[in-house]
Amino acid sequence: MDTLTQPDTLDREQTLRQQYYRDRLPEMRLLEKLIHKGGDAFRVEVLTEVLDGKAPEGGLALPVYSLELGSADKDAPVLLLSGGVHGIERIGTQLLLAQLGTLISRLKWDEGLNHSLTKMRLVMIPLVNPVGMARGLRSNGQGVDLMRNAPVDALAPRPWLVSGHRYSRWLPWYRGRKGDPMEAEAEALCELVSRQIEHAPFTLALDCHSGFGMRDRVWFPYANDLRMMEHAAELHAMVRLFEKAHPNHPYLFEPQFHHYRTHGDLWDYLYSEHLERAGQVFLPLTLEMGSWLWVKKNLRQLTSYKGLFNPLVPHRQKRTLRRHHLLLEFMINAVRSWQNWLPLEQERQRHHRNAERRWLEEEKQG
Ligand SMILES: [Zn+2]
Repeated sequence: MDTLTQPDTLDREQTLRQQYYRDRLPEMRLLEKLIHKGGDAFRVEVLTEVLDGKAPEGGLALPVYSLELGSADKDAPVLLLSGGVHGIERIGTQLLLAQLGTLISRLKWDEGLNHSLTKMRLVMIPLVNPVGMARGLRSNGQGVDLMRNAPVDALAPRPWLVSGHRYSRWLPWYRGRKGDPMEAEAEALCELVSRQIEHAPFTLALDCHSGFGMRDRVWFPYANDLRMMEHAAELHAMVRLFEKAHPNHPYLFEPQFHHYRTHGDLWDYLYSEHLERAGQVFLPLTLEMGSWLWVKKNLRQLTSYKGLFNPLVPHRQKRTLRRHHLLLEFMINAVRSWQNWLPLEQERQRHHRNAERRWLEEEKQG
C-alpha cells in the first residue's frame, strides 16, 4: 500500500475536504448529502474533477456531478437542469438543490411523479463550476467564462468585452485562448448534454443563472445572432401552454439577442451541433433570475459583489427558491406529455409566424 491510500491520509483528506466545503462551498456539501439520501433513485456520475490549486495543502480536486433519475430508455424525452456555470451566481445551484430535496421526498409518496419518471428522464448538473463558486468568481479557476468558451462566434457582438474577448484571463468574460480545447467544466457539460439528447425525441433544458434586471427572464437561442431559432414554433407552443396554465407568471420569455450578442455561448453551440437530427427537438432555455429585485429591497446588497447576484436575506432567498417551483413543475409535465402539445404542420407554421411577430419584428423595428 502506498502512502497516499493509507487510512490516516484518507482521513486527513476527508477532514480537509469537509472543512473546505463548510467554509467555501456549502452547496457541494448539501449536494453530496442529497446524493446519499437519494440512494438508488439516482444514477450518479462524476463528469470530471477540477482542481482548486488555491485550496490548502497543495489543492483539492472538486467533482462535477450529474444525477439522472427516471427512465433509462435512450428514446425517452429528457429534462436537463443545470446551474452554477457562473460561480458567483450561487442562487441557481441553490434553486436546483432545493428542487432536488423536494423530489427526493416526493419520490416516496407521489404516484404521479413516479409515473411521469417511467416515461421520461430527469438529468441534473447542479454545480457546473465548483472552483468558481468556492472562490466567488464568475469564471472558472482558470479565469475563463464558461458561457463564452464554446467554439462559436457572434456575428455582431455587443457590448464590447461582455460579448466575450481573448485579451486576458484577468478581465471578466474571457473566452480562453483561440484554438485551445474547451475548459474541462464546459467540455463535461457539453459531452453530457450531447449524450443525453442523442436519441431523445424531445429535450428541454434549463440553465439557471442570476444577474442584473428587475424581471425573471427565460432566454432561448440565439445569443450570437439576431435570428429566430429553428424550433421557434415548438418553443412558442410551449410558452403559450405555460402562459395559459399560469396567466400571472412572473417571467419574460425572450431570445437572448434582445439583450446582448455573445461569442461562445454553450447553448448556442449545443443547439447548432444537434440541429441536423431530423424529427428530434431540443429546446435549451436559460433562466436569468432578476437580482435587482433583491437589490432594490436591500441596498446593503450594493456593497457586496456576491449580493448583486444572490439574495442576502434568508426569507428572500426562500421566496426566490419557492417562486420558480411552478416553472420546474411545468417543465416536468411538458416533457412527460410532449407528444400532446408539440405542434405539427399547419399548427407549426402558425406558431412560427407568431414567434417571429412576438420576438423578431419588434427587434428589427427597434
Ligand atoms: Zn450567469
